[in-house]
Amino acid sequence: MSQKSNLKTNPLACPLSKKCGGCQLQNMTYERQLKWKQARCEILLKKYGKVRRIIGMENPLHYRNKVQAAFGRTKSGKIISGVYQSGTHRIVNVDSCMTEDETADKIITDIRAMLPKFKMTVYDEDRRTGFLRHVLVKRGFSSGEVMVVLVAADSRFPMKKKFTAALLEMHPEITTVVLNINPKDTNLVLGEREEILHGAGYIEDTLCGLKFAISPKSFYQINPVQCEKLYNKAMEYAELDGNSKVIDAYCGIGTIGMVAAKTAGSVIGVELNKDAVRDAISNAKRNDMKNIGFYCDDAGEFMEAMADEGESADVVFMDPPRAGSSRKFIESMLKLGPEKIVYISCNPETLARDLNYIIKGGYKVKEMTPVDMFPFTNHVETVVLLVR
Ligand code: SAH
Repeated sequence: MSQKSNLKTNPLACPLSKKCGGCQLQNMTYERQLKWKQARCEILLKKYGKVRRIIGMENPLHYRNKVQAAFGRTKSGKIISGVYQSGTHRIVNVDSCMTEDETADKIITDIRAMLPKFKMTVYDEDRRTGFLRHVLVKRGFSSGEVMVVLVAADSRFPMKKKFTAALLEMHPEITTVVLNINPKDTNLVLGEREEILHGAGYIEDTLCGLKFAISPKSFYQINPVQCEKLYNKAMEYAELDGNSKVIDAYCGIGTIGMVAAKTAGSVIGVELNKDAVRDAISNAKRNDMKNIGFYCDDAGEFMEAMADEGESADVVFMDPPRAGSSRKFIESMLKLGPEKIVYISCNPETLARDLNYIIKGGYKVKEMTPVDMFPFTNHVETVVLLVR
């Protein structure tokens, strides 16, 4: 059964869906998935205001720009690569996946086939022997640049030059190859040390007209097509102009704040993770943006301090992790009292809980729009506009 036909008619087109567990909505046509997500948002959020129609994908296949495959062997010794069966460390062999970028999948299966020729072994988690643990591929959908990261248990790789040359010959679209060394007994995919085998060691991509550098470790939006729609909706809600003072709370690598800075007067991004803040600062420089600054701090404490100093903001964008925001954060935001709050949520349950607090603090939900960032999974994003 072809993948396309699944979108309209056939349930369970992916033969791996039960074993892999990554796609919870495999048994639904795409249309049904969107209805399911819409209904979920309405059940949880309708009591707070109007839920607009979900923004779906025109083509929901192969939307993931980042693909990660674990390498190992079957009991009979065959080399396999793919995903861990959910909740286990058993590898499910994947040749192609309907959510993953097709170029990335092809690169990974070709690397798997190349291993014996270059005397590359695969890592055995139980015995802690062998070489290759994971392959990570990131592709800039708009730039076309491709990064391949080989994650190995040690740095001894005698045939690395020949291997890299052969890989590039087979896949001339690859712009950089990195060897990442992870000798530890850990669930983290990437280790500390890195050696660049080809190119710059990072790729660039464009999102909402802005350039972003993506290194092996840096965070980047997984579905850039939908991410643009999500951010455009957030900007439409914010109605910024040259006088707007904006805060991007939980700013990560600064994407939302930078998009806002194209029209706003000034933007401050606040983020706890110092690597993300470093990326945000360098991304702002890369785009020559002068009206945005980033702080490594707890976003709530930062806003509280601003309020104590008598400062204000017109719009707060907040994009918290799946666990949602905290009561403390919301209290600090209420103290600062922005005219508008644009809440970008990846979890409607925690969103509902947080909206409850924010509304009690004197805000009203104007409207909400769900956006489907992860077709075939049960995840749904929502943008909410609140006004004081
Ligand atoms: N909008 C971001 C992604 C946000 S993901 C982007 O486009 O890159 C949520 C982020 O919130 C994570 O980067 C996490 O490190 C950060 N975070 C979590 N708790 C925080 C807190 N209390 N204060 C500031 N940032 C926090």
